[in-house]
Parts: sequence; structure tokens; C-alpha cells
Amino acid sequence: MPAPLVVQKYGGSSVADADRIKRVARRIARERAAGNDLVVVVSAMGDTTDELLGLAAAVTDDPDPRELDVLLATGEHQSATLLSMALHAQGVAAISLTGPQAGITTDGRYGKARIADIQPSRVRLEIEAGKVVIVAGFQGRSAAAVGQSEITTLGRGGSDTTAVALAAALGADRCQVFTDVRGIYTADPRLVPKARQLPVIGYEEMLELAHQGAQVMQVRAVELGWVNDVVIEVLSSFEDAPGTLIREDPLVEQRNKVRGLAHDRNVAKVTIVAVPDRPGVARSIFEPLAEAGVNVDMIVQNVGHGGATDLSFTVPRAELARGKKVLEPIVRELGARELTTDASVGKVSIVGAGLHNAPGYAARMFGTLADAGVNIEMISTSEVRITCIVAEDELETALRALHDAFELERPEAVDVAAAG
Ligand code: ADP
Ligand code: ASP
Ligand code: MG
Repeated sequence: MPAPLVVQKYGGSSVADADRIKRVARRIARERAAGNDLVVVVSAMGDTTDELLGLAAAVTDDPDPRELDVLLATGEHQSATLLSMALHAQGVAAISLTGPQAGITTDGRYGKARIADIQPSRVRLEIEAGKVVIVAGFQGRSAAAVGQSEITTLGRGGSDTTAVALAAALGADRCQVFTDVRGIYTADPRLVPKARQLPVIGYEEMLELAHQGAQVMQVRAVELGWVNDVVIEVLSSFEDAPGTLIREDPLVEQRNKVRGLAHDRNVAKVTIVAVPDRPGVARSIFEPLAEAGVNVDMIVQNVGHGGATDLSFTVPRAELARGKKVLEPIVRELGARELTTDASVGKVSIVGAGLHNAPGYAARMFGTLADAGVNIEMISTSEVRITCIVAEDELETALRALHDAFELERPEAVDVAAAG
């Protein structure tokens, strides 16, 4: 019988300095001593990725995407090699591999590549040779022939995806994501002190929380877990405490309809005031934005008055400058009155798989925000969430009020059964 295979991922704060790397090495050594084979995915140390982005920005306003990805990938090379050395120092056989060496190929899009395939033969060989395999997260090579392929990175938080994808490709027995909180909470525990840790959360609800800004898991990692049936255990690397399981949730119908809250500060609002109200206008605005790679999220068009209407939508903050450049000439051509933007808004969402057949939740959300004195600037809904745009400095107030109103601190009876 081969030993059980465990894939572990350690986030940036877990490997932020030499002492923390040594501590992670000790944890791995314990796991190894217990008889498990291990593949360990690491993020870059601490804020390294932000620092590298800052260096690039200090050199140029418009860094070449290819060079930027090669630069960013080095963050994970650092932490992978250092962790391997720390294991050697503790007498544990280990080897670090880059994403490409681990057999990870991508669709080649710089900065937001998706994993296209994994051929982990080298990883398997090293496991068979008795080594702990450390894989640099957040990267892979584009699918071109080896001599022509390029390093590509998987988007912020991409090491989560490296870990889940490797767990799926290797048929791992466990997939553990170690981070700086104990698991998945009903809201970001840094903003909502009463947030409650969930013992288990279904893929669908976790996916929606991630989509709406809960950065604890990258969206793509949850998708891959769902498609490949990988149970993902999220837990703290700083304490020995039970984590949260992300998996198919058989009890989803029996739960409180609101499972958790998510928020996102990476939002900017764009309004085009008094656009002529005629066919084709929406296309002439949104087609060029799409072509420029600007991701438009919520869109609200008001009822027209006197042949004109206001059109508002949101874009990621980092794409606002690019969006404005695209829109300015269009706004002039259309004869709209003006283009206004607001980068100090945020998004707050209530998420739950059962929201769509439970009327009253929207009204309760809006009423709660009103009572808390928070003005709602835009609203959008789907089957599993209701989202409001509010002023960024009111996000925290909004989250805390909603957490109270939906009684999210109260444990659910079904959790005990589901965690078993
Ligand atoms: P890592 O560096 O380990 O990848 P991240 O910073 O990417 O860690 O993700 C962990 C952070 O996610 C937590 O510190 C927490 O502030 C934030 N977070 C947001 N929403 C949630 C949530 N619902 N549950 C737990 N953490 C959350
Ligand atoms: N280092 C990358 C980031 O900061 C990837 C990751 O941490 O998952 O986004
Ligand atoms: Mg992360």
C-alpha cells in the first residue's frame, strides 16, 4: 500500500520570514513522521508579490506583461527553495520545483492564466524517491513547445489553485490550505469580530463568497475543487485548531438561508450622465470596454426622462483608469452630459444557496442597511446572493449590522451532523 498523499498549501503570512518557514518545516516534518507523502505548495513570503509589483511600477507605468509574470513568479521561487532548505536542515529529504517543473501548463494569459493541464510525472518521481516535494505556487508555463513556452501567473491568490489542481491531478487523499485564520467564517473575521467559523461549507456557497470578494480562497481553486470533488480543508498554520471543510454540502436545504457575508473594496463606480436613450447605446459603451479587457460587473440603467438616461456600472479599481480612457471619446461621441467615477465604494453581499426561493431577504437586507444609516448606491441579485454597493467607509458598519440582523453568530444544529 502506498502511503497516504497529503497536499498542503501555505499562504504568504505563513512563510513570511525565516522563523515562520522553519515552523512550517517542523509541521511538515511531523506529517512526514506520521507516514504520509507530501506535496507542499507555497505562496511568496509575506507581501513579496505586492513589493515586486511596486518595483515594476517604480520602473514604468506600463510594465510588459511577460516580464512582469517572470518577475512575480520569483516570489514563489524564493519561498519554495527556502522551505526546502529548512527541511534539509531538519533532516527531511525535500526538493523544490517551479510550477513548470511540476508539469503545470496554462492557457498562457499573463497575470490571469488558467491551469490548462498538469502532467506531474516529475512530482511523482520525487515522491517515490522519498522526498517532500515543494511546489512554487501561482504559476505555470504556457502550453507552447518547451523552448517557446512562457512563465505565466495565475492571478492574485493563485497558489490556492495550484494546490487544489495538484491534489486533483495526483489523486491526493487530503488537500489542506493553511492560512492566517482558522478556516472559513460567516464574514471576514478581521472586520466582523462576531464572525463565526463554519465547520463545513458547500462548494456553491464558497464559490459565491469568493466571487464576491472573500479572498480566503481563490475563485478558480473552489471551481476546480468542485469539478474534481476535492475536499478542501482550510486551517490555521499558527495554531492547532479544527479548520473548515469545503465540500459538497448534503444539508444545504436545511440551513439558515444566509450562509455568510462577503465584501470587496476592489470596486469603482462609473456613471454616464444623460446618455441619449436609443437602441445601440449600451453596445457602443460596453463593447469597447470588453475589447479593452475591462471587466464590467453590476450595471444599472435608470428610467429615461426627456430622451436621456443615466447609466451606472462597476469595474475593478485597477481597471478604472483604462476604462476611463476608453469611455471619454465615446461619451463625447454619444453627446452624453458627463462621465463621473467614484473609486471609494465597496460591495457587500449576503450569500446563501437557498435565497432564491425565500422572499423577504432582500427587504431585510435593505431595511438593515437603512437602520444602520448606510446608503445603498446600487443593487444586484442572483439565485444565491444579494449585493449592494455602498460607500467604502461604510462597509464595516454594513457588515456588522447585517451579521447581527441575519443572526449569523448563532451556530446551526445541522453543522454538527455535516462535520461528522
Ligand atoms: P493567504 O496568504 O494564506 O493566502 P489570504 O490573505 O489570501 O491568506 O486569505 C486569508 C484572509 O482572508 C484572512 O486573513 C481574512 O482576513 C480574509 N477573509 C475574508 N473573508 C473571509 C472569510 N469569510 N473567512 C475567513 N477569512 C476571510
Ligand atoms: N503570491 C501571490 C499573491 O500574493 C499568490 C498567492 O499568494 O496565492 O497573490
Ligand atoms: Mg490567499
